[in-house]
Amino acid sequence: MKIIAIGRNYAEHAKELNNPVPAVPVIFMKPDTALLKDNKPFYHPEFSADIHHEIEVVIKISKEGKHIAEKFASAYYDEIGIGIDFTARDIQQKHKEKGLPWELAKSFDNSAPVSKFIPKTQFPDLYNIDFHLEVNGKTVQQGNTKDLLFSFERIIVFVSQYITLKKGDLIFTGTPAGVGKVNIGDHLAGYLTGEKLLDFYVR
Ligand code: MG
Repeated sequence: MKIIAIGRNYAEHAKELNNPVPAVPVIFMKPDTALLKDNKPFYHPEFSADIHHEIEVVIKISKEGKHIAEKFASAYYDEIGIGIDFTARDIQQKHKEKGLPWELAKSFDNSAPVSKFIPKTQFPDLYNIDFHLEVNGKTVQQGNTKDLLFSFERIIVFVSQYITLKKGDLIFTGTPAGVGKVNIGDHLAGYLTGEKLLDFYVR
Protein backbone atom coordinates (compact mmCIF):
# COMPACT_ATOMS: atom_id res chain seq x y z
CA MET A 1 0.00 0.00 0.00
CA LYS A 2 0.99 3.60 -0.29
CA ILE A 3 0.16 6.78 1.56
CA ILE A 4 -0.58 9.90 -0.44
CA ALA A 5 -0.89 13.19 1.37
CA ILE A 6 -2.28 16.55 0.32
CA GLY A 7 -0.55 19.74 1.38
CA ARG A 8 -2.24 23.10 1.88
CA ASN A 9 -5.80 21.86 1.54
CA TYR A 10 -7.24 24.27 4.14
CA ALA A 11 -6.74 27.96 3.40
CA GLU A 12 -6.12 28.96 7.04
CA HIS A 13 -3.28 26.45 7.35
CA ALA A 14 -1.64 27.55 4.08
CA LYS A 15 -1.69 31.09 5.49
CA GLU A 16 -0.14 30.17 8.85
CA LEU A 17 2.94 28.78 7.06
CA ASN A 18 3.05 31.72 4.63
CA ASN A 19 2.24 29.49 1.69
CA PRO A 20 -0.02 30.49 -1.19
CA VAL A 21 -3.38 28.75 -1.56
CA PRO A 22 -2.73 26.27 -4.39
CA ALA A 23 -4.59 26.19 -7.72
CA VAL A 24 -4.11 22.41 -8.00
CA PRO A 25 -3.54 19.94 -5.16
CA VAL A 26 -0.02 19.75 -3.69
CA ILE A 27 0.80 16.10 -3.11
CA PHE A 28 3.56 14.07 -1.50
CA MET A 29 3.92 10.49 -0.35
CA LYS A 30 4.89 8.52 2.69
CA PRO A 31 6.13 4.91 2.53
CA ASP A 32 4.26 2.07 4.24
CA THR A 33 6.93 2.15 6.98
CA ALA A 34 5.47 5.52 8.05
CA LEU A 35 2.28 3.84 9.28
CA LEU A 36 1.71 3.76 13.03
CA LYS A 37 -1.41 1.86 14.08
CA ASP A 38 -3.33 0.70 17.14
CA ASN A 39 -2.51 3.85 19.13
CA LYS A 40 1.06 2.71 19.66
CA PRO A 41 3.42 5.38 21.05
CA PHE A 42 5.29 7.65 18.68
CA TYR A 43 9.00 7.66 19.46
CA HIS A 44 10.34 11.15 18.87
CA PRO A 45 13.22 10.90 16.38
CA GLU A 46 16.54 12.50 17.30
CA PHE A 47 17.14 14.05 13.89
CA SER A 48 14.57 16.79 14.42
CA ALA A 49 13.99 19.35 17.17
CA ASP A 50 10.68 20.50 15.74
CA ILE A 51 8.26 17.68 14.92
CA HIS A 52 4.82 19.16 14.24
CA HIS A 53 1.41 17.53 14.52
CA GLU A 54 -0.96 17.86 11.55
CA ILE A 55 -4.34 16.26 12.24
CA GLU A 56 -6.03 15.12 9.01
CA VAL A 57 -9.05 13.22 7.78
CA VAL A 58 -7.83 10.07 6.00
CA ILE A 59 -9.74 8.22 3.30
CA LYS A 60 -9.16 4.59 2.39
CA ILE A 61 -9.20 3.57 -1.26
CA SER A 62 -11.55 0.65 -1.92
CA LYS A 63 -10.62 -0.44 -5.45
CA GLU A 64 -7.99 0.00 -8.10
CA GLY A 65 -8.35 2.87 -10.52
CA LYS A 66 -6.54 5.26 -12.79
CA HIS A 67 -7.77 8.28 -14.73
CA ILE A 68 -10.86 8.24 -12.53
CA ALA A 69 -13.64 10.60 -13.64
CA GLU A 70 -15.14 12.92 -11.04
CA LYS A 71 -18.62 11.41 -11.34
CA PHE A 72 -17.23 7.97 -10.37
CA ALA A 73 -14.67 9.12 -7.80
CA SER A 74 -16.88 8.62 -4.75
CA ALA A 75 -17.00 4.89 -5.52
CA TYR A 76 -13.25 4.61 -4.98
CA TYR A 77 -13.19 5.21 -1.23
CA ASP A 78 -15.38 3.51 1.31
CA GLU A 79 -13.93 4.27 4.74
CA ILE A 80 -12.78 7.30 6.68
CA GLY A 81 -10.44 7.65 9.61
CA ILE A 82 -8.23 10.21 11.24
CA GLY A 83 -4.47 10.46 11.18
CA ILE A 84 -1.52 12.66 11.95
CA ASP A 85 0.89 13.77 9.28
CA PHE A 86 3.93 14.22 11.53
CA THR A 87 6.28 16.71 9.92
CA ALA A 88 9.87 17.57 10.82
CA ARG A 89 9.28 21.30 10.32
CA ASP A 90 12.96 22.22 10.80
CA ILE A 91 14.06 19.79 8.08
CA GLN A 92 11.21 20.88 5.82
CA GLN A 93 12.10 24.54 6.24
CA LYS A 94 15.76 23.97 5.35
CA HIS A 95 14.79 22.07 2.21
CA LYS A 96 12.19 24.64 1.21
CA GLU A 97 14.74 27.44 1.51
CA LYS A 98 17.05 25.60 -0.88
CA GLY A 99 14.20 24.75 -3.25
CA LEU A 100 14.79 21.05 -2.59
CA PRO A 101 12.16 18.32 -2.15
CA TRP A 102 11.14 17.92 1.53
CA GLU A 103 10.74 14.15 1.46
CA LEU A 104 12.82 13.58 4.61
CA ALA A 105 10.60 15.89 6.62
CA LYS A 106 7.50 13.84 5.84
CA SER A 107 8.40 10.23 5.13
CA PHE A 108 10.28 9.05 8.21
CA ASP A 109 9.29 5.94 10.18
CA ASN A 110 6.03 6.19 12.12
CA SER A 111 5.27 9.64 10.74
CA ALA A 112 1.72 8.56 9.86
CA PRO A 113 -0.32 7.44 12.88
CA VAL A 114 -3.80 6.37 11.74
CA SER A 115 -6.95 5.41 13.59
CA LYS A 116 -9.32 2.60 12.83
CA PHE A 117 -11.54 3.29 9.83
CA ILE A 118 -15.29 3.85 9.76
CA PRO A 119 -17.56 3.12 6.78
CA LYS A 120 -18.34 6.40 5.06
CA THR A 121 -22.00 5.45 4.95
CA GLN A 122 -22.09 6.18 8.70
CA PHE A 123 -21.55 9.89 8.03
CA PRO A 124 -24.73 11.80 7.12
CA ASP A 125 -22.70 14.45 5.26
CA LEU A 126 -19.09 13.81 4.23
CA TYR A 127 -18.61 17.55 3.82
CA ASN A 128 -19.66 18.47 7.31
CA ILE A 129 -17.37 16.30 9.41
CA ASP A 130 -15.86 17.94 12.48
CA PHE A 131 -12.46 16.75 13.61
CA HIS A 132 -9.99 17.98 16.17
CA LEU A 133 -6.76 17.23 17.97
CA GLU A 134 -6.11 17.58 21.67
CA VAL A 135 -2.59 17.71 23.08
CA ASN A 136 -2.51 17.05 26.83
CA GLY A 137 -6.25 17.66 27.02
CA LYS A 138 -6.22 21.03 25.23
CA THR A 139 -7.71 21.45 21.74
CA VAL A 140 -4.93 22.67 19.44
CA GLN A 141 -6.39 22.04 15.98
CA GLN A 142 -9.96 21.83 14.79
CA GLY A 143 -11.37 21.55 11.33
CA ASN A 144 -14.42 20.67 9.32
CA THR A 145 -14.40 18.98 5.92
CA LYS A 146 -16.66 21.75 4.56
CA ASP A 147 -13.49 23.89 4.43
CA LEU A 148 -11.50 21.52 2.20
CA LEU A 149 -10.12 23.37 -0.84
CA PHE A 150 -10.08 20.12 -2.84
CA SER A 151 -12.81 17.58 -2.08
CA PHE A 152 -12.07 13.88 -1.63
CA GLU A 153 -13.42 13.31 -5.15
CA ARG A 154 -11.27 16.01 -6.71
CA ILE A 155 -8.20 14.62 -4.95
CA ILE A 156 -8.94 11.15 -6.35
CA VAL A 157 -9.44 12.54 -9.85
CA PHE A 158 -6.20 14.53 -9.68
CA VAL A 159 -3.96 11.88 -8.14
CA SER A 160 -5.24 9.07 -10.37
CA GLN A 161 -4.19 10.97 -13.48
CA TYR A 162 -0.61 10.32 -12.42
CA ILE A 163 -0.61 7.44 -9.95
CA THR A 164 -2.75 4.31 -10.03
CA LEU A 165 -4.73 4.03 -6.83
CA LYS A 166 -5.01 0.59 -5.30
CA LYS A 167 -7.29 -0.96 -2.71
CA GLY A 168 -5.96 -0.16 0.75
CA ASP A 169 -4.07 2.99 -0.21
CA LEU A 170 -4.58 5.87 2.19
CA ILE A 171 -4.99 9.53 1.38
CA PHE A 172 -4.27 12.13 4.06
CA THR A 173 -6.46 15.02 2.98
CA GLY A 174 -4.73 17.99 4.56
CA THR A 175 -4.54 19.74 7.91
CA PRO A 176 -6.42 22.75 9.26
CA ALA A 177 -4.66 25.61 11.06
CA GLY A 178 -3.01 25.22 14.44
CA VAL A 179 -0.06 22.96 13.68
CA GLY A 180 2.59 22.91 16.38
CA LYS A 181 5.49 21.15 18.03
CA VAL A 182 5.11 17.91 19.95
CA ASN A 183 7.31 17.00 22.89
CA ILE A 184 8.28 13.77 24.58
CA GLY A 185 5.58 12.91 27.12
CA ASP A 186 2.74 14.60 25.21
CA HIS A 187 -0.60 12.83 25.04
CA LEU A 188 -2.35 13.20 21.67
CA ALA A 189 -6.04 12.50 21.13
CA GLY A 190 -7.69 12.78 17.72
CA TYR A 191 -11.45 13.04 17.33
CA LEU A 192 -13.71 12.48 14.35
CA THR A 193 -17.27 13.81 14.84
CA GLY A 194 -16.69 13.82 18.58
CA GLU A 195 -15.50 10.22 18.75
CA LYS A 196 -11.99 9.72 20.09
CA LEU A 197 -10.22 7.49 17.58
CA LEU A 198 -6.57 8.42 18.12
CA ASP A 199 -5.16 8.20 21.62
CA PHE A 200 -1.42 7.82 22.06
CA TYR A 201 1.71 9.24 23.65
CA VAL A 202 4.92 10.75 22.31
CA ARG A 203 7.85 8.86 23.88
MG1 MG B 1 -0.24 17.49 6.17
